[in-house]
Amino acid sequence: MKSEKLIYQGKAKGVYETDDPQKVIVEFRDDITAGDGAKKDNINEKGFWNSIISAKLFEIIEEEGIKTQYIDLIKPGLMLSWKLEMIPLEVITRNIAAGSLLRRYPFEPKQTFDPPIIQIDYKSDEYGDPMLNDDIAIALGLIEKENLEKIKEITLKINKVLRKFLESKGLLFPDFKIEYGYDTEGNIVLGDEISPDTCRFWDAETCDILDKDLFRQGESGVIEAYKRVASIILDEENKKKWNIEL
Ligand code: UDP
Repeated sequence: MKSEKLIYQGKAKGVYETDDPQKVIVEFRDDITAGDGAKKDNINEKGFWNSIISAKLFEIIEEEGIKTQYIDLIKPGLMLSWKLEMIPLEVITRNIAAGSLLRRYPFEPKQTFDPPIIQIDYKSDEYGDPMLNDDIAIALGLIEKENLEKIKEITLKINKVLRKFLESKGLLFPDFKIEYGYDTEGNIVLGDEISPDTCRFWDAETCDILDKDLFRQGESGVIEAYKRVASIILDEENKKKWNIEL
């Protein structure tokens, strides 16, 4: 199924063509970067765990009738996905103040947001992923107004679904970044990944950090934290299907 043709190479994932023009294979690699690529490393098994965590969270979202790119895991690390034409927007949702929000604005650490904040950045290494407003996104021709509204609506629904699931497992969900694309029929579909590389996950009781912030802060135990997220969210059926021991 996996042809040799790499059609996109990102900082932590690659996308390969398949025999079916509507499907691609997303390869989750062990490369990890932070600060727009300023800090780089390779963490053994990171791609494996990120693909499984993403697959599980895509399944939870699909169960609520929201379209995602996810079809199946061929094996951990390789995700069979619908081919999307990606929209260069990073859609960030914030439930609790953390990260760049605290560096840029006078919010209190751990201040909660109800309703959640949606922030949309321009996915562009050249321009350093600047934050957009609706008018700039539309003027740049990145998206049409109607689709921007649709994306915000879907994102709020995804936040609700994931928060409910994660909180039921004892995890807080301070913020996360998602990306969307168009399928071959022009529908807006959730793409990319939902993993500790792109989300903040905190243990609700201990407030332990279980995501890429450990790497950003130069701390040890990154892969152990990612594995802990997997062990918290996977059920026995998932472990059996993906042949995982935790
Ligand atoms: N995020 C991401 N890719 C980016 C920027 C942010 O996946 O290029 C995620 C990040 O992991 C966090 C959320 O979006 O879950 C908000 O990130 P923030 O703006 O706080 O940036 P950071 O503090 O990570 O620089």
